[in-house]
Amino acid sequence: MVMPKQPAASSNLDLALAGHATSAEASTTDNDQRLLTIFEIARVLATQHDPETILQKLLSCLIETLEAADAGLLLVYEPANEWLAVKAAHGYDLAALRQLRLAPGESMSGKAFQSGQAELYPMPAAIAAAIADFTPANGEIFRAATIGRRQPLSAICVPLITGQTKVGVLVLENWRQPGSFVRADLTFLQHVADLIALAIENDRLREELQAAQSLYEANRLKAELISTLAHEMRTPLTSIKGYSTALLMEEASFSPETQHEFLQIIDEECETLQDLIRDLLESSVIDAGLLKLELQPVILPRLAKTVIADIARRNPKYRLLVDFPSPFPIVEADPHRIEQVLRNLLDNAVKYSPQEGLIVVRGQVRQDEVIISVADQGVGIAPEHLNRLFERFFRVRSGLGRHVVGSGLGLPIARTIVESHGGRIWAESQAGQGSTFYFTFPLREASKEVAQQHESQKE
Ligand code: ADP
Repeated sequence: MVMPKQPAASSNLDLALAGHATSAEASTTDNDQRLLTIFEIARVLATQHDPETILQKLLSCLIETLEAADAGLLLVYEPANEWLAVKAAHGYDLAALRQLRLAPGESMSGKAFQSGQAELYPMPAAIAAAIADFTPANGEIFRAATIGRRQPLSAICVPLITGQTKVGVLVLENWRQPGSFVRADLTFLQHVADLIALAIENDRLREELQAAQSLYEANRLKAELISTLAHEMRTPLTSIKGYSTALLMEEASFSPETQHEFLQIIDEECETLQDLIRDLLESSVIDAGLLKLELQPVILPRLAKTVIADIARRNPKYRLLVDFPSPFPIVEADPHRIEQVLRNLLDNAVKYSPQEGLIVVRGQVRQDEVIISVADQGVGIAPEHLNRLFERFFRVRSGLGRHVVGSGLGLPIARTIVESHGGRIWAESQAGQGSTFYFTFPLREASKEVAQQHESQKE
């Protein structure tokens, strides 16, 4: 808590009343103090970068150097919500006051904001009258935040304005003596307020710039997506077109085996196209924040075996194994989504491995989680690419000596699914030496019993 200053022998009012100092001495002291304040404010603006810290430091340094001020608030107007919110406080509990939502015209600060004019409240009665129109909710928050603290005896509210735009309000309070703020303070405080308003405006411009940059980046990614997918779709489409045109040629006659082979290639290429379109749709669903999980108890070994059986049927030349300890804890998950993750990792293991490669899906049990891994003996991934794999559209040249069609969206989608289950996903690999992808699921209390069984079996 900030201690109130001692009653000021040199405040404007005292000087006027006491008559000890000449008015020339008084204004020299005032001018020194004001210069010092401006100097301190300039220092904060030059050395601080975080917007909230800047506002807090500006307010504190203003109150510490300005004799008449004991406490104060900085409120910033949020146009989207049409309210003023407290962003910095000195002498008050900021956390409690942050909940205030003041409409323009409400209470002391709302009035200064609405009129665009500095408002002086020289006496407690004027303050009480100005804050009497708090909404019940704001009144409650204000009372809770100020209970047990000293009450303001005089106050001044200065609107923060840049150009034609009102951006907030500076409130300064004196807790020691009524009449401490006088009209003569207004001009100086208006200059200070202009500096604070500039800091707020700078921050707003920085945010706008960041938003514009993010939009630019999003648009760039979209353009990249269209060109990547158009390019990737051309490969299977060219193949489909070529084989179907050949089959339709009246002058050519193919043996039933060749016809079957052509149809099989067409079928596979259609599947590749389907996969690309599925990734694209999934990615846009996730982008729109529409990924919904339907959680239910899932027996992972059973699910893994079903997926493996299907992949093995479609890729008879690869050797696929499943290795799960028994019993294996049941996890709370969305089975369709988990199947999607497994399929994606297995499709990649097939895509980026030579035929006859061994692919192993393994389950491990830890104290708080289960780990599923998919290991292959394929081309592997160079260390500099490992942590970029989960970025959208990131693809590495396959190293298999042929172009492998893909969207660069499969792993980012898998990551979103795993993380929305509270798990983690990562890859370990070395170029040319195969890759292992891991993902985890946290275990709920009920499933931990099985995990403990495993731990005790290890000992
Ligand atoms: P896609 O496979 O459609 O390109 P993914 O997001 O699934 O997109 O994978 C991104 C990139 O990660 C791939 O292009 C590939 O370079 C690399 N990758 C993924 N899995 C493997 C793997 N098992 N072995 C080697 N590289 C892999």
